[in-house]
Amino acid sequence: MENCLYCKNKEKLDSLMIYIADLKVCKLYLFKEQTYYGRCVIAYKDHNVDFTELNAEESAAFISDMQTVGRAIMKSVNPAKVNYGMFSDTLPHLHVHIVPKQKDGYGFGGTFEMNVNPPKYLSDAEYKEIIDKIKSNL
Ligand SMILES: [Zn+2]
Repeated sequence: MENCLYCKNKEKLDSLMIYIADLKVCKLYLFKEQTYYGRCVIAYKDHNVDFTELNAEESAAFISDMQTVGRAIMKSVNPAKVNYGMFSDTLPHLHVHIVPKQKDGYGFGGTFEMNVNPPKYLSDAEYKEIIDKIKSNL
């Protein structure tokens, strides 16, 4: 837990993401790198829980949070598809990358890239605009 991005490393978290809202059992963040416009992350409320360890009730709440964000992103940026990525090889904190894909956008038809090079960052006004949109659609 010492170096966990979501629990203990606010500085690193703030460099990568912007907090949007608390959901049922997750916190929602906008990913600062916005090659996939509207890309978000949800992180589970507790540290060191694997997806397979959630009981039926926790699992339903977790999936519901994922759907809530997926629907909000669909309404906010009207993508062709939303991708959901759970990796966590080296970060033992349950989280999901929720990544909208446009048909004529970057990497459509393939696996989304975690770290696109060069990265695409927005202005503060543009971050506020997309965050407000997603928030209003939650
Ligand atoms: Zn953690």
